[in-house]
Amino acid sequence: MGLSAAWHLRRAEPDARVTVLERGRVGSAASGASAAGVRAMGRDPAERALALASLARWPELDRELEGATRYRRGGGLRVALEDAAWRKVPGWIAEQRADGVPLELVDATAARTLAPGLAPMCAGGVYCAIDGQAEAMATVTAFAAAARRVGARIEEGVGVTAFVAERGRVVAVASSDGRRHACDVALVAAGTWSAPLLAGLGVRVPLATRGLQMLLTERASGALAPVVSAFGRKLSLKQLASGAWLIGGGWPADIPDETQNRWALRDDSVKASLEVAREVYPPVGEATLARGWAGLEAFTPDDLPLLGPVPGIDGLLVAAGFCGHGFALAPAVGDVLARLALGGDARADLWRGLGIDRFDAAGTIETAKGAWC
Ligand SMILES: Cc1cc2nc3c(=O)[nH]c(=O)nc-3n(C[C@H](O)[C@H](O)[C@H](O)COP(=O)(O)OP(=O)(O)OC[C@H]3O[C@@H](n4cnc5c(N)ncnc54)[C@H](O)[C@@H]3O)c2cc1C
Repeated sequence: MGLSAAWHLRRAEPDARVTVLERGRVGSAASGASAAGVRAMGRDPAERALALASLARWPELDRELEGATRYRRGGGLRVALEDAAWRKVPGWIAEQRADGVPLELVDATAARTLAPGLAPMCAGGVYCAIDGQAEAMATVTAFAAAARRVGARIEEGVGVTAFVAERGRVVAVASSDGRRHACDVALVAAGTWSAPLLAGLGVRVPLATRGLQMLLTERASGALAPVVSAFGRKLSLKQLASGAWLIGGGWPADIPDETQNRWALRDDSVKASLEVAREVYPPVGEATLARGWAGLEAFTPDDLPLLGPVPGIDGLLVAAGFCGHGFALAPAVGDVLARLALGGDARADLWRGLGIDRFDAAGTIETAKGAWC
């Protein structure tokens, strides 16, 4: 999110001095570990406009970035394995179609034409032609290169230690190498490590860290085009250009050391994830598991991101808490953040309902006002 914002900012305002401070390496957290699914299907209503705006950008993103995200629009297919799930599908589709998400009901035969290896018990499903997939590190690298190309400075190995505000306005960022970077606008986009940074300014945000697991098999035969998921199952299944299966779906990993971005795979998650993948798409069972990894992601109580200005502190923006589905949103989020930073039309229609002030009423966010410097 930070790299996308930096790229959009410099592209919109070449005179702006833009610095990204990255305490590790770019892509070393959630974005680099991501399953890189690019979907509009199944989003919360509050996130749909942002998702649709983002998905409209993906087909042209490589050209825009002058890079290779390895994006392909192979569609998304969510299948129903039980009659109970199948009966709910028409209502599920209608509600999203009303917001412009182009979903189609597909019967079992059509589902199998789209995804030939589907389990025989598949009753049918929902197809979204605009969904697709990219590759995580390729995308992060493309965003970083594009940001640098337009003149943003990216400092890796330099962490933010504090945001500094005076009289209700952000004025500087302090970094781990002892420097103080004066600024007009600061963006907190530190993934699941955003909460302590905001806490330093008296702003509490309800972010909880979870480790999410991914599995990758050796290369296999076949050429599955859509990303396959299933109602009532934790599954996102893709076949990569190499033929390897990439299996995710939100299976938990352990977090031995959150501050140091350390994770550990769990045997029960690995086993259960493989079982579900084989149950829904039996050809996966013929491939050997090659490796697994996890990424630390920030979750909010309502499973929606925190995006927009931080109330009470002028010039401070936040983009965090993407709850396992932020990768696809990066183009639109970066655009929104750049607009907010520059004070133009901030496309509030895209992120209405995602601001951090939504937690005030429940008392889960406290925004302090005054001087912190
Ligand atoms: C396994 C997995 C699978 C996923 N699959 C999908 C998917 O298929 N589709 C989808 O849309 N989304 C998916 N997501 C979610 C998506 O990847 C994330 O929502 C998104 O990448 C979050 O981006 P971010 O920039 O907010 O956070 P991050 O990518 O975590 O970036 C935050 C950065 O801040 C840096 N940082 C932290 N603290 C500091 C500090 N003090 N100073 C400076 N830098 C700091 C970190 O090193 C990190 O590089 C998945 C996530 C995971 C983990």
